[in-house]
Amino acid sequence: MISSSKTVCLLPGDGIGPEVVAAAKAVMVTVGDLFGLALRFEEHAFGGDAIDRFGTPLPPETLEACKRADGALMGAIGGPKWDHLSGDSRPEAGLLGLRKELGVFANLRPVAVPESLAHLSVLPPDKVAGTDVLVVRELIGGIYFGKPRVLAADYAIDTMTYTVQEIERITRVACTWAMRRNGKVTSIDKANVLAVSRLWRETASRIAKDEFPQVVVEHMYVDNAAMQLVLNPRQFDVILTGNLFGDILSDLASTLAGSLGLLPSACLGGITPLFEPVHGSAPDIAGQNKANPVAAILSVAMMFHEWAMPEIANLIEESVSNVLLQGNVTADLVLEGQPFIRTSDFTLLVVNEMTSKYNRVAIDV
Ligand code: NAD
Repeated sequence: MISSSKTVCLLPGDGIGPEVVAAAKAVMVTVGDLFGLALRFEEHAFGGDAIDRFGTPLPPETLEACKRADGALMGAIGGPKWDHLSGDSRPEAGLLGLRKELGVFANLRPVAVPESLAHLSVLPPDKVAGTDVLVVRELIGGIYFGKPRVLAADYAIDTMTYTVQEIERITRVACTWAMRRNGKVTSIDKANVLAVSRLWRETASRIAKDEFPQVVVEHMYVDNAAMQLVLNPRQFDVILTGNLFGDILSDLASTLAGSLGLLPSACLGGITPLFEPVHGSAPDIAGQNKANPVAAILSVAMMFHEWAMPEIANLIEESVSNVLLQGNVTADLVLEGQPFIRTSDFTLLVVNEMTSKYNRVAIDV
């Protein structure tokens, strides 16, 4: 029995966001019952939904609620309905603004492919089985935030900038995680072309050498990294990279596991930790009870890890893994026309697995 109370700010957002957040909430409610944990939920408008209701993708009430909470869980934002909007009025601006306002500069995106689940991968199982990569992506700097940003009729400008301090702090996060894992960091850049990347490489090398002598740091160009992730993903332990390259490479890495719908993430280092499935709002399947809720559910597990409640996090992770191992998969993990499990049924299976696993352990004890 864990005696504690936590407030979770839920941001369902758009498309499949509300469906996967509902699944994640069902898992949290179950955890609350099983462990006697008082979880309080607040739900707030975000993204396109907030634009429709409040005229802005990040209403002040939503931001304040996130700042007050012990953790925030987002579903996904965006979709064709808001594609005609530009700049700060877009749903994506709400997400970038929330990350920036919370100061969550470190985005952790784990991609693990255990032998038992390698058959779900898009790649041959013998190539990916045993892959265990943690992508550490810088989240509130780089080209997504650099100024000037201009969209004129005949030209456009985006600006990539990183300060030494920004690179130092994200390097420390990557090296700290490497020390808990297999001691290797692969820092990804484009130092053969970009000045920012040359500063990135120099700074990451220095911090690793001065502060983490036990960690082996290697450097790789982003184009090669994309190829290596497909050819030989097991060579990676911790990947350290900037905002843009991390965004792209972590989506690519999702194919190793089998689907974007399997990958959770945690955004840390700020006022409140923010947890987000890696995927977007998947407008093509929204509202059909077809979304894979695993990424959102495993994001909840990351929340409990962050709150130093590993017992709960492990129960969630093992239960999801067991349900998948029993052959229960959502539509994204089967070929067209083959049978699949709907979002709500998959969630129920996870909840039942958690309850029976918890009871088995309790009886054994
Ligand atoms: P997407 O991640 O929404 O979808 C890519 C593909 O993966 C689609 O075929 C989709 O059906 C599938 N997919 C994604 N998540 C899934 C899940 N949980 N279960 C089953 N299938 C899943 O990316 P996109 O199509 O490039 O973008 C759609 C919208 O989402 C855009 O408006 C984009 O801006 C937004 N987006 C939001 C986020 C975010 O909220 N963090 C991230 C990426 C994209």
